[in-house]
Amino acid sequence: MKIDSLPIPQQVKEILRKEGIERLYPPQREAIRAGVLEGENIVMATPTASGKTLIAELAMVKKVLEEGCIALYLSPLKALAYEKYEDFKKYEKAGLKIAITTGDYDSSDPWLSEYDIIIATYEKADSLTRHKPPWLNHVKVVVFDEIHLIQDGHRGPVLEITAAKLLRNSPQVVALSATIGNADEIASWLNAKLIKSEWRPVPLKEGVYYNGTVYFNDGSEVQIPIKGDPISSLTYDCLSSGGQVLVFTSTRNGAVRLAKKLKKVSSEMLTLSERTNLRKIAEEIAKTPPQTKLNRELAALVQEGCSFHHAGLPYSLRKIIEKSFRSNIIKVLCATTTLAAGVNLPARRVIIQDYRRYDPSFGYVPIPVLEYKQMAGRAGRPKYDKQGEAILLSKTLDERDYLLKEYIYAKPEKLFSKLSAEKNLRIHTLALVASGYAESYEDLMQNFSLTLCFRQIGRQLLLEGIKRAIDFLVKSNLLEASDSLLKATPLGKRVSDLYIDPLTALTLLKYLGGKTVFNDYEYLLIICLTPDMQKMYLKRGERKVVEALLMKLAPQLFKILEAEVYEDEYEYEFTLASAKTALLLFDWIEEVPEETIVEKYDIGPGDLYAFVQTAEWICYAASEICKIMGSPQHLKKLQELRSRIKHGVKRDLLDLVRIEGIGRVRARILANYGYRSIDALKKASIKDLVRLPLIGPELARRIIACVRGEKLPESSGEKIEEEYEPSVETLDKYFS
Ligand code: ADP
Repeated sequence: MKIDSLPIPQQVKEILRKEGIERLYPPQREAIRAGVLEGENIVMATPTASGKTLIAELAMVKKVLEEGCIALYLSPLKALAYEKYEDFKKYEKAGLKIAITTGDYDSSDPWLSEYDIIIATYEKADSLTRHKPPWLNHVKVVVFDEIHLIQDGHRGPVLEITAAKLLRNSPQVVALSATIGNADEIASWLNAKLIKSEWRPVPLKEGVYYNGTVYFNDGSEVQIPIKGDPISSLTYDCLSSGGQVLVFTSTRNGAVRLAKKLKKVSSEMLTLSERTNLRKIAEEIAKTPPQTKLNRELAALVQEGCSFHHAGLPYSLRKIIEKSFRSNIIKVLCATTTLAAGVNLPARRVIIQDYRRYDPSFGYVPIPVLEYKQMAGRAGRPKYDKQGEAILLSKTLDERDYLLKEYIYAKPEKLFSKLSAEKNLRIHTLALVASGYAESYEDLMQNFSLTLCFRQIGRQLLLEGIKRAIDFLVKSNLLEASDSLLKATPLGKRVSDLYIDPLTALTLLKYLGGKTVFNDYEYLLIICLTPDMQKMYLKRGERKVVEALLMKLAPQLFKILEAEVYEDEYEYEFTLASAKTALLLFDWIEEVPEETIVEKYDIGPGDLYAFVQTAEWICYAASEICKIMGSPQHLKKLQELRSRIKHGVKRDLLDLVRIEGIGRVRARILANYGYRSIDALKKASIKDLVRLPLIGPELARRIIACVRGEKLPESSGEKIEEEYEPSVETLDKYFS
């Protein structure tokens, strides 16, 4: 089926032709025949790289151009959402306006009403459905990307309930997923036609390595020349025929260790020009701030053609690595499994080092087949490889046979809803009532009847869970129930709009409800005690130090906590983990350099920004709750603390960091040179500012324009995932 023959506007055909898309792939053809262009709901359950996104694009573009409505594309991760945003911008040539929204959960984003295709994360879409902007009524196509995430304990329920709310308006639905066990059930839930196929643009062979041979699922047995241990041998074998290798491993340290080992293999294969390219990338990595030991390790490896990739890396470094691997400059990539669920980085050979993962409750447990298939699906680069190979490793014959049976020949598991867990029902019941989707039990059941959970566990069990959730919410003064009517209290409505767990709100209220005014560290600790805040891991031997610091830095709060949790060992550990997390945030707002923080707490810069983002959000929620509760004694302190968390600065820099492009490091430089406020800067000239360290002519011009209130041109440059101020040197990129 040719693109030319499709009933879509000519401009769209031209855009696709420029992308090299002339004919549809077989599963795409099926989707067209099933009526996706006539508004049919479709579930595409087909392998990675089989062109699912194009079907979603066609459905969105056609409807938007014909009906002038809005299309919503939902994605589980910010990184994936940005990838789609960059990709969909090609439709601007057809006159469509494309937007992305991922942050700020307490907003209805009225600006989005101007756009045609809106890309959002599931969390953001859930928060938007709580704020109910009028433009939501114009959404006539919804795409659910990576719908298998429905069984993720955290994101799955958000996906499901957001779907239920959006389905009320009967939009066209396109759901995308790699093959899943119960695709038919998902399709039936969404009232969609199912396109299920194993077709791939590059055929995939799956096999198990045992003692020098790979036993593939097509019956072939391939001898691998021995070159050290099995992974090194498999890597050498693939690289020597011009391929690239992606190795999945279960831990971050594992990925780094493995990359250090495999660099010896990749290094042997490099040509002179490849070495030159790699050296340039290594230099870029070394210069990318924050310059921590990760940069040094990474640069040394990349120079040899090998790299690691995990969530501890800052976004800027991840991007460099992804780009260099995609353009075949980096030959070997050792990644944690987070990459399998994230951006698409295919390689000719995918090696899966561990098929077991450590679980604190159960020890080492085998990973689900779905997860294995997700990793295996990365093998084979369209246009570059004739076939892809996914390989598991075994040490014994028994293990080889086990892996062949349980993974290679196995079908992925069924997806099960996690919505009925107590926490999820508590959060989403409150949200449905607070946003006016439900005013009674019957209304609630009506909403929940649109979820997968309802189909899987049935009305009765769900109803019992909802009743328990309502009892809790009423007792907590977040809901009022009279006769059969349900109504959110002003506090309940605000908690729902703020997009926090009701338990987070109760924790905040517990400590902020009284008259006691706390110090900065204590407020940070209160934020860290909430269930919405991720906690640092308390290492062995750290208990005493953290305990001593807790007593010293949080004198008032410690008295309260001591009475509450000393008796309970589990609660006490939780408190100390929170206290450690608060110490990290305290260092951040006291302007300890990022490099020092990541080394001191043994985390990656990516983790630091994640902590900062969540803390800022909870601090904002805390200040909003104080407004409702009439606690002015905390309000001002929390508002100021929020800015300090956002920018990572001491109090005296809060004026300066309001200037666009001025972060913690440059603000401190300005202050040290006597420019302590915007007023002081108004008197400076560009010439004065250029004399200061780290301030070039372009930035100086912008600072002056900004403080004198002139309208500034849009800053160019790459958007970054973390909504924090990028470190010093990257700023120059923004202004170039
Ligand atoms: P999936 O979503 O199934 O993982 P993608 O939609 O990302 O797959 O498609 C993988 C690649 O294939 C993309 O680069 C896309 O542009 C390209 N592609 C999709 N459909 C076609 C087609 N019909 N012909 C050529 N290339 C295509």
